[in-house]
Amino acid sequence: MSKDWYPVINYIECTECGTCIDMCRHGVYDKSKAPSPLVIFPEGCIKGCKGCGNLCPSNAIKYLGDIENNCNCNCKSCCE
Ligand code: SF4
Ligand code: SF4
Repeated sequence: MSKDWYPVINYIECTECGTCIDMCRHGVYDKSKAPSPLVIFPEGCIKGCKGCGNLCPSNAIKYLGDIENNCNCNCKSCCE
C-alpha cells in the first residue's frame, strides 16, 4: 500500500453490508469478496475522498492519512 490515503476498515464494527464496495468506482475494493470489504487497490483511492466512509452505517471506515498519528492498528484506545 504505497499511497498515503486509503480506507482502513474496522472489521469489528463492520456489518458487511457492502455499501462501501458498491459506492467506490475506483477499484479500491475487491468486488469478488462483496459484501465483505477488502481493500485491494489503495492506489486507486482519491486523496481526501470519504465517499465510502460517509455512507458506512457502522462508521467502520477511517482513512490512512486522516489518522493523526498514522497508526493503522484500528485499536480504539489510540486511534479514536
Ligand atoms: S474514499 Fe472514495 S475513492 Fe477511496 S475507496 Fe472510498 S469511495 Fe473509493
Ligand atoms: S459500508 Fe461499513 S459496514 Fe458496510 S461493508 Fe463497508 S465498512 Fe462494512
